[in-house]
Amino acid sequence: TESVLMISFYKHGELRPEVVTQYKAEVLSKSGLQVSQPRWGFEAVGGYQGLKDLLTQNVINFFRHPDVAKALGLRTPRGLILYGPPGTGKTLTAEALAGELKLPFIKFSFADIASKWYGEAEQKLTRALKVADAAAPCIMFMDEIDQLLTRGGISEHETSRRLLNLLMSWLGDRDRNVLFVGATNRPQDLDPAFIRAGRFDMILPVLWPDRDARIEILRVHTEVVRKVPLADDVDLEKIADRTELFSGAELEEIVIMAAREAMKKIVAGERTEKVVTMADFEAVLENYTPPGFSQRENQLQEYLELAREFSCDRRFIAAVAGVDLELDRMDLLLRGRDHE
Ligand code: ADP
Repeated sequence: TESVLMISFYKHGELRPEVVTQYKAEVLSKSGLQVSQPRWGFEAVGGYQGLKDLLTQNVINFFRHPDVAKALGLRTPRGLILYGPPGTGKTLTAEALAGELKLPFIKFSFADIASKWYGEAEQKLTRALKVADAAAPCIMFMDEIDQLLTRGGISEHETSRRLLNLLMSWLGDRDRNVLFVGATNRPQDLDPAFIRAGRFDMILPVLWPDRDARIEILRVHTEVVRKVPLADDVDLEKIADRTELFSGAELEEIVIMAAREAMKKIVAGERTEKVVTMADFEAVLENYTPPGFSQRENQLQEYLELAREFSCDRRFIAAVAGVDLELDRMDLLLRGRDHE
């Protein structure tokens, strides 16, 4: 307390909350967990408006107006799960949520606590949860949560059971001021019993971005998070048309590769203006196929079926997931399964 007061007064002449938060993050980083104070809010997440709206109404507003929630007898959400293919912005969204709320963001993955030594994984998880409690109010993000919540599989294993119980009882304590966000690419591995236990307030799909989201993601990575000067002929809509079922991470990659193309030309003296042109994007798109691309249609269907298992409301799924599906087509996909 003394140190942070000194720092704040020395730098700003007053006690500033953001200095306290930042100092706290620095101290907690020493625990080996990644603790940060996100710079960006939802403006860094392109598209996924439905998801952002939902998080605003069901999480952000609760943190910002606890008195209203309390007066209405509503509980602040304490646990979320985001699921979907890799690179679709699950981590980014959780981080942006922390950015919106100006809360510290603690990130860890199952791999960070997994250990072959007896008792060590529990110790690590206990410590991580303690760090979160100490950093509260904060957002704690855990990747690969399926490894902990798997049906059958390794959770049959003694250690995994104990880890799961540890997390469950921690999540069960509603007095904590920590929002826990778990992410997984393998929602099919989540234990249904665990989902029914109601420890998580929302289980939300984050699928491949729809056309509008792709345009927004390209914009985020050329104008917001990264500034990439584009020539007048660059048409983000056209790029979006050619990148169906690409993830946000892959769209970001395309922007970077196009900028590298431009750099080659500029350095070789073939271009004088320091801009990225449509031809650079074309060159990249012609040669780029995301890994496992041919399986994505099928995977999308699987994700949507799961989404239906987790939520009864298909409009909700369509609104939140970000996918490029009209409701009719989604109905067909889902009904196809029933006929089988
Ligand atoms: P996931 O956690 O779903 O595997 P990440 O959040 O780690 O994916 O995404 C990796 C990177 O891809 C992000 O850091 C960001 O740069 C980019 N990205 C993914 N989705 C988006 C998006 N909707 N808007 C902007 N950038 C995105």
